[in-house]
Amino acid sequence: MANENRVVLKLSGEALASSASDQTIDALTVDRLAREIAEAKESRDLELAVMVGGGNIWRGATGELAGMDRATSDTMGMLGTTINALALQDALESHGQATRVLSAVSMAEVAEPYIRRRAIRHLEKGRVVVFAAGMGNPYFTTDTSAALRAAEIEASILLKGTHGGVDGVYSADPKLDPSATRYETVSFSEVLAKDLRVMDLTAITFCKDNNLPIRVFDLMSPTNLRRSLLGEALGTLVA
Ligand code: UDP
Repeated sequence: MANENRVVLKLSGEALASSASDQTIDALTVDRLAREIAEAKESRDLELAVMVGGGNIWRGATGELAGMDRATSDTMGMLGTTINALALQDALESHGQATRVLSAVSMAEVAEPYIRRRAIRHLEKGRVVVFAAGMGNPYFTTDTSAALRAAEIEASILLKGTHGGVDGVYSADPKLDPSATRYETVSFSEVLAKDLRVMDLTAITFCKDNNLPIRVFDLMSPTNLRRSLLGEALGTLVA
């Protein structure tokens, strides 16, 4: 049974960067996201776990294209997510929000290991849990890791914040097709049949099989993160 107050938020690594600076991690951007999370936690009985990506630092596919061993390159990507997780933890704690980083790859001096029951305990105690290193396996993405952890900890929804200026799921790519329209809700079957870009296919299929709804919303508009954490129906619901 899903816990109604428990939510997993997927933040892409690139959401921590900014076009306004050339920093890999933009402190002002991370601070804004952390502030919205802390505000949402104050205004609602919310149990929040965040899966951070690493695309601002490294993607496994990039190394593979350059001739690297895929598993090694993916491991580099997972380590990148950990750097992002620490940045987010730091920003959350500067806003007074207790946070624990739980890593799927053991690095005892830096983060706690991911243990499902421990993650749930932290959430029950009001701490924000930040998942680092995806699910710890190469060949996977943090989208799929977010879906897996959401199912494991019995979250009621997976919130997927986008950073590319597209505020939900569209019938076609709105940047290429001006007649594309945004769905308020769309079924998993339609997303799969029409190959709509929401998350990678592994993640979508996992959510479909496990009845885990996804809300896709524009993360970059100020207040959107807070509002979506408060349960507002922004963007598109995939269910
Ligand atoms: N990764 C992985 N296993 C996981 C999660 C991530 O191997 O369980 C690697 C993979 O190489 C990926 C990189 O970490 O390209 C960064 O994650 P992702 O691309 O999902 O980050 P995002 O696009 O969300 O920033």
